[in-house]
Amino acid sequence: MKLICFDCDSTLSSIEGIDELARLKGPAVFTAIEAMTSDAMNGKIPIESVFGLRLDAIRPRLEDAEAVGARYVATVEPTAKATVSALQASGWTAVIISGGFRQAIRPLADFLGISRVEAVDMYFRGDGSYAGYDVGYPSTRTGGKLEIIKALRAEMAPQKVVMVGDGASDLETQPVVDLFIGYGGFTARDKVRRGAKAFVTSLDQILPLV
Ligand SMILES: [Mg+2]
Repeated sequence: MKLICFDCDSTLSSIEGIDELARLKGPAVFTAIEAMTSDAMNGKIPIESVFGLRLDAIRPRLEDAEAVGARYVATVEPTAKATVSALQASGWTAVIISGGFRQAIRPLADFLGISRVEAVDMYFRGDGSYAGYDVGYPSTRTGGKLEIIKALRAEMAPQKVVMVGDGASDLETQPVVDLFIGYGGFTARDKVRRGAKAFVTSLDQILPLV
């Protein structure tokens, strides 16, 4: 089998899920969270330095995660669905690897026909209130996506692995994949554009590369 891994936020969809969760809590929370996310995705600060802080500030409820789930689908990358379908038709298995939240990403994965989602679980109480997240999950920290790809290699024994993403955490996987493709259709980050062996601004541009 051949494995193609997609980042979610600012790659399969134009939004950053954590920023959208923050937006639901008002402009002051949104501004603070967005700055932290941007610094982490540009590689200025390690993701683990903001991961818990952002969630502690937001404390999202279950219905907030569901609202962001709908936003992901509404803001899907224009060529994503056709690209994933074309890849699957030529023998690729698509997986989403994200530092975002599994519950929020699931509707987009279903829309795209992707069954496997590697992302962070959030926990909620019976009344929908926030009860924490999976603090040990690899994508909450630097090098986490690289760890996830190594685990997928061991589990699935793919002949070829491709990773597509816009962020510094995606670029970290380049040493353990056969091809890393930087994506800059929504946010072209200098560090990724300079470091990636391939770089596209529309997801359908990956088809001739793989
Ligand atoms: Mg991203």
